[in-house]
Amino acid sequence: MEAVRLRHPRRPGGPRVLHGHPWVYRNEIAGRGPHLQPGTLVEVVDWQGRFVGRGYANPLSEITVRLLTREPEAIDEAFIRRRLDHAITLRRQWFPPDPDKTQAVRLVFSEADGLPGLIVDRYGEALVVQIMTAGMEALKSLICTALMDLMKPTAIMERSNLPVRQLEGLTLTKGALYGSVQGPVEVEQHRLIFSVDLMDGQKTGLYLDQAENYAAARGLVPRLGNTARVLDVFCYLGAWGVHAAAAGAHTVEGLDSSVKAVEKANAGAERNGVAGRCRFRVADAFEDLSRLEEAGARYDLIILDPPSFVRNRARVSDALRGHKELHLRAFRLLAPGGVLITCCCSHLVGREPFETTIADAAHDTRRTVRLLERRGQAKDHPVVFGIPETAYLQCVIVQAL
Ligand code: SAH
Repeated sequence: MEAVRLRHPRRPGGPRVLHGHPWVYRNEIAGRGPHLQPGTLVEVVDWQGRFVGRGYANPLSEITVRLLTREPEAIDEAFIRRRLDHAITLRRQWFPPDPDKTQAVRLVFSEADGLPGLIVDRYGEALVVQIMTAGMEALKSLICTALMDLMKPTAIMERSNLPVRQLEGLTLTKGALYGSVQGPVEVEQHRLIFSVDLMDGQKTGLYLDQAENYAAARGLVPRLGNTARVLDVFCYLGAWGVHAAAAGAHTVEGLDSSVKAVEKANAGAERNGVAGRCRFRVADAFEDLSRLEEAGARYDLIILDPPSFVRNRARVSDALRGHKELHLRAFRLLAPGGVLITCCCSHLVGREPFETTIADAAHDTRRTVRLLERRGQAKDHPVVFGIPETAYLQCVIVQAL
C-alpha cells in the first residue's frame, strides 16, 4: 500500500486528521504526494513516518485522502461488511422494529458512519445507494454484496448523480445495482404514508433528515388551536404540511417551484385523507410570499425549509441575504403569537449567523421573537464531534408576538 506522508505542520496543533477528522487536504501532504490513481487505498503517516490511518486517495480532489480506519487493518470485504453492519445495528437501536417493512431511514451517513463518500437509505424493502467519491466507487461491488447479505433488500438502486462527483473525476450515474423497483415505493413516517420515487425524487426520495422535526411540528399544531392556518414554504412532497394537517390544522397551504413535487404533494394529502384541508401549488417562494402579504393573508404556523442557498464558503453572505428576505416576509405573514419553523441545510452557515438573521428580520418587522426550540437533523444522520461537516441541518422554532 502506498504511503501518503503528512507535511510538518506550520501551525501548532497540526492537521485536523490528527484530531479525529478523517480528511487530509492536498496542502497538508509532504512534497507533491505520490502519483496515484483516483480511489487508490493508501496509508497515511505523519512527518516522522508514524502510522496515522488507512483510507483512499484522490489526487484530483482538494480533500486528497479520506481515512477509513485508524487501525493497521485490511480494507477488504470483511472490513466493509463490519462497517455497514455497525451502522445498521446502530439504526436498529434508535428506530423501532418495522414488521410492515415500510420504514424510511438512513442506514449509512458517510463520514459520520466511518464510510466517507457513501450514503445508504432504506425505503421499505429497497435500498438507495449514493456514492460521492472515487474511493467509494472502487469499493462499490463489496458494498453491494455486503448490503444484500445484511439487509436482504428487494432492490438496490443507485443515485450517484450528485455534481460533487465531478470534482472526483467521476461521471454522474443512476440505475439499479440489484433487482428493480417498479413505480413509487410507499413508506411510513409517523403513521402517514408517503409515496417515494427512488429514481427521480429529490435527494434519494425523501428529506429523511427532517423526519423528527415533522414530529415536533405535529406536537405544536394542537397548541395553536383548531383554527390553525399553516403555510408550508418549499414544500416538496408536502411532508410538513401533511403532518400539520394530520395533527389537526384547519387549513394547510404549501408551495414549491417544482410542478412534479406539487402534484405529488396533493396526491400525498389525498392518500392520507387530509386533501380537504390541504392545497399545494406551484410558485416561487420569494414572489409568492410578497403576493400573500399584499393580499393580507395571515398564518399561525409557517414553515421555511428552503434548499441550500450556499454553494461555497464565499457565498455564505448571499445565502444569509436569502434567508433574511424569507424571514422578513414570513414575519409579516405570521399572526400574533404565530410560530415559525425555519430551516437551514448548509454546514457552512453557523448557528450564530443564522439566528442573527432571524433576529434582524424580527427587528425590522417590529416583532418580538422568542425561541421555542433549536433542533437539528434526525438521529440517523448522526453529528460526530470533531467532524463539523456532519452537522448541517438547523431547524429553529420561534414564536412571534
Ligand atoms: N420541505 C421539504 C424539503 C424542501 S427542499 C420536505 O420536508 O420534504 C427545497 C425545495 O425547494 C425543493 O422541493 C425545491 O423544488 C424547492 N425550491 C427551490 N427553489 C424554490 C423557489 N425559489 N421557490 C419555491 N420553491 C423552491
